Amino acid sequence: MSQDDPVRIIPHAPEGIPDTGSFEVVWPGGNRHFYWDENAGRRAITLHDSRDEALEKARALARAERDRLEHACPGCDGTGWVCEDHQDQPWDGPHACSCGAAGAPCPRCNWPEDGELPRMPDGFQPG
Ligand SMILES: [Zn+2]
Ligand SMILES: [Zn+2]
Repeated sequence: MSQDDPVRIIPHAPEGIPDTGSFEVVWPGGNRHFYWDENAGRRAITLHDSRDEALEKARALARAERDRLEHACPGCDGTGWVCEDHQDQPWDGPHACSCGAAGAPCPRCNWPEDGELPRMPDGFQPG
């Protein structure tokens, strides 16, 4: 992993408790903790993974996020929607255009076939 990798796995451990902690996967726009616990008694209560399992899950997510970044459409940042007034700016996500205009389907990657609906942004509520 290089220094400027946009997706990183950061290990966390509480001070003085060597047998538990978490791996935090950080990517542009989000992060997620994978908690682990090597103490079997405690794990029966917390239902956390072992360290290896948590690391494996963290790595899988990091790979998926890296993959998504590499293939993201440069116009809409992979969200499928651009700003209606600035069609080279994403309408959603961490780099969303802040001008407040309505969203429009991305002209690069979200032109539906006749009779089909464009992809909706994450969390979009119709109406
Ligand atoms: Zn705009
Ligand atoms: Zn696009």
